[in-house]
This record gives sequence, structure tokens and C-alpha cells, in this order.
Amino acid sequence: MADRCYDYIIVGSGAGGGPLARWLTAAGHSVLMLEAGSRFQSHEHPDNELEANNRLMWNGGMDASRDAGFMFLRGKVFGGGTVINQALLDRFDARALDSWAERSGLDEFSVDAMARHYDAVESELTLEHIPRENGNRNAELYVDGFEKLGYGWAPLRRGQSHCRVDQGNDCIRCLGGCPRASKQSMPVTFLARAEQQGLEVVTDCQVDGLSHGRQQVTVFGRQQGRARRFFGRRCVLAAGSLGSTRILQASGLAPELPALGKGFYCHPQFVTLALYDRIIDAHKGSFQAVKSDDERFRAAGFKLENVFMGPSGAAYLMPGFGAKHRDLMRAYRNLACIEVAVRDVTPGRIGGDGRGGLRIDKRVGAPERQRARAGLNVIHDIYRATGARKVVHSPVRIGLHLMGGCAQGRDRATSVVNPDFQVHGLPNLYVMDASLFPDAPGINPSLSIMALAHRAAERLLGEPLDARPEAA
Ligand SMILES: Cc1cc2nc3c(=O)[nH]c(=O)nc-3n(C[C@H](O)[C@H](O)[C@H](O)COP(=O)(O)OP(=O)(O)OC[C@H]3O[C@@H](n4cnc5c(N)ncnc54)[C@H](O)[C@@H]3O)c2cc1C
Repeated sequence: MADRCYDYIIVGSGAGGGPLARWLTAAGHSVLMLEAGSRFQSHEHPDNELEANNRLMWNGGMDASRDAGFMFLRGKVFGGGTVINQALLDRFDARALDSWAERSGLDEFSVDAMARHYDAVESELTLEHIPRENGNRNAELYVDGFEKLGYGWAPLRRGQSHCRVDQGNDCIRCLGGCPRASKQSMPVTFLARAEQQGLEVVTDCQVDGLSHGRQQVTVFGRQQGRARRFFGRRCVLAAGSLGSTRILQASGLAPELPALGKGFYCHPQFVTLALYDRIIDAHKGSFQAVKSDDERFRAAGFKLENVFMGPSGAAYLMPGFGAKHRDLMRAYRNLACIEVAVRDVTPGRIGGDGRGGLRIDKRVGAPERQRARAGLNVIHDIYRATGARKVVHSPVRIGLHLMGGCAQGRDRATSVVNPDFQVHGLPNLYVMDASLFPDAPGINPSLSIMALAHRAAERLLGEPLDARPEAA
């Protein structure tokens, strides 16, 4: 491996890097993947929350914004965010894609043009709608409240197979890595196929920067403290919104790319718990089974998620100190939870802190506060209609679904990556992950990141993938 020049180096193994590696190797290219996190077999995933956060997430799940108003969660593991996420996989609607087309100037962002990319990705995944009978009491309360108040809801579509919640498995463990290889994360789907097709992987290797030459890209990294160098004719950054943006900045490319680091978005989560007199056991079984499906909520820029968290997560999110906090924790089994996930419109900025670390400037703006309030009003109505004794708001703002920083578009002044996924002015350097997003869609993003990877593979290979039988 030492001085070999690969056809492609892919940095990052998440929702963007995994599918891309699968299609590039299927086309016969030599591909090296570099990943900062470690590799786990399914049965090796940590079985307690704190250890999982520590071993599977950047900074133990504590990437704070500069004013500590947000905590951002992102995976640092072979498979990236797809190992620790909930694998809820939805296509984007016209509301999301039309906004992207307008911002980027790219017609490819339309429901019709994206359809065949979604088809291709979905054909490689096992997708299941959670059956109503598998929902737990937290889901039952949610549905009851929605129906009493006349709001639309729908079962969730999840990337999973043989999950066996009907046999007593609790899928909340999946957030620390699925122990049964049921969740359709990259290592059990696209990356498994890519490795069968010859993908080489180096884990525990953090990329610090790169240098772009006429014939090749040199990538500099550290593997367990040891400096490493890798060579590729082309390099694709798939290190996620924060990772890819930082690698470009640390490589000294910011002066040539005025939009780099701008337009950083997430979906801020406003967690609201309710205390009932009866046992709810919201952590049991399919801990997330239903979603809001109401055009009024979509138009108002929020959705309501029926979620829960393990005891460490609950202790972290719960307000208060001492006896007040203890009493809430004692009532863990009587708690239900709904959160408002807001479609973010106030852009943040990604940069360096001058000491080799990240600086993330991001705040909850007035539009997000107003959207959150609208959602919280509905949640209060639901809890009241279903007999909750007390409503508890978490003071912690979690930022999930990190997007932007290297927006795709035509105009170099407002974008970093061109319609062919190439960094403007650097023909051997590409980006393929959520950093491409021109704004926040308000919908779970990972299926769309995978669909974009299908489109990126076609651009890199220079022809439609369905014209290549080996990639079909
Ligand atoms: C708790 C949680 C639940 C979620 N639930 C859902 C859900 O249900 N549905 C959904 O669609 N989305 C969900 N998401 C979001 C989803 O997982 C992400 O949007 C998606 O994984 C992003 O894909 P990506 O390719 O941009 O980056 P990632 O999947 O984050 O992959 C980037 C990879 O690059 C690596 N990397 C970063 N920097 C470097 C570097 N310098 N050198 C080497 N490697 C590097 C990282 O370690 C990581 O493995 C959830 C996220 C979280 C945290």
C-alpha cells in the first residue's frame, strides 16, 4: 500500500462514502478508504450508552457550538453516522428539492430527476415499515393524541431486517451500533459489497489535509499517532459536513473557495418529556415507530418525532439538579417523549479554532424559535389530551443531521462543489457527503445522501450506472 497510487481515495465511510465505494469498485477501480474511526463487528458494539458515545462518536458526542448552545452528534466509526443513527429512510419531497434547485441553479434537484437514484439505492437495502403492533406505549400515546386532535401520522420506514422486536429485542440499543446486523448501516450493506469487490480500508486514520497535483492528490493523515501519506489519481472527501469542510480549510484552500464553511445547517431538536401515572416503558421494543405526516406541520417548518433515549441520555437531557433531577430519573419508566425537529433556516459557519480543532458558529435563530414554539404547542395539546401529569422541557439543544459547508452549485461565489461533484478549480478533488446540501431539507437526510452518491458515481464514471451490468 505504501506508495501505491489508487484510482480513488475516499475519505470517510458514512452515508456518502459507502455507496460511492460500492459503485466505483464495481466498475473495476482501485479504491482506498480512509476512516478516522474504528471498525466493529456487530457483536462487538459497546452495550452501554456512555461507552458507545465514547467509542463511536467524535468527542464522545460532545461537539459543541462556539457558544455551547448546540451539542452536535456525529459518528466516528467505520460506517460513520449510519452505525449510530436510527436508519429512518425517507425520500425528499418537492418542498426540499425545489429549494435546493433554486439555491444551487441545478435542475437535477427535482423529485423526478432524483427518482432513479433513490430507486437504485433502495434496491440495495432492506426497508420495512414498522408494523403498528410493534409500536410501544410511547407510540400508542402519540397516535392517540394525533387522532384525538385530528393530525396526520404515519408508520416509520426503517432500514432493517430480522430486527425481532416482536421477540423482546429493544431497538434503542441500535443507537450504539446494532448488535444483530439488522440495521442497514454501511458496513452491512454497501461497504460489505465494496470490500468483496476489492475496496481497501484503513481505519483509525484521521486525515489532516491534502495537496492537489496535476496527476494525483496526496492525502496526509495520522494512524494511531503515526504520520501517513496516501496517493490517489482522484480523491473524494466524504468525511461529513464538518469533516470535509475542515480538511479543505486545513489544506489551505479557503482563499480560493469563498463559500467554504458557510451555509452550515442542522435539524435542531427540542426534546419534551411527559410524566404519566402509568408505566410507559418508552425504551422498550421499537422505540421509534411512528412519525408526524401532516402538511400543516411541513408548511410550518417542523415535524414531531416520537423518540426516547437510554438512562444516560435521559439524565443528560433532563432539567434541574439534585432532588428534582433524581425524582424525574426515578420516574424513567413513566415518561413519554416527543421532540420537535425544526427545519433550520439560519446558516452557521464552520472554521478552525486556531489550535487544530473545530470552531462551529451556530445559533438558534428567531425563525427556528418560532417553528419550535408552534411544534411545542401541538405537543402540549397531545400530552393534555392523553392524560399526562406533567410536561418537562429539556434545556439541551441537540443538533442532528449536520449539513452544508461545501454547498453544490454552479456559482463559485456561493458554492464549493460544481454539478460534477468536483471542487471548483481542482479537477482531481471531489466531495460526496452531506456537506453538499445547499440548505436544510427538514427530512431525514441519509437516504438522499446515498442517492446523491449514486449520481456522483455516474459523474465520476462518465455514464449511467444502469449501462454497467456489473454495477447493477
Ligand atoms: C443519533 C443520530 C440519529 C440519526 N438518525 C437518522 C435517521 O434516522 N435517518 C437519517 O436519515 N439520518 C439520521 N441521522 C443522520 C445521518 O446519520 C447523517 O446525516 C449521515 O450519516 C451523514 O452522512 P455523511 O456521509 O455526510 O457523513 P457520516 O455518515 O458522518 O460519515 C463521515 C465519516 O467520515 C469520517 N471522518 C470525518 N473526518 C475525518 C477525517 N478527518 N479523516 C478521516 N475520516 C474522517 C467520520 O468518522 C465518519 O465516519 C442521525 C444521526 C445521529 C447522530
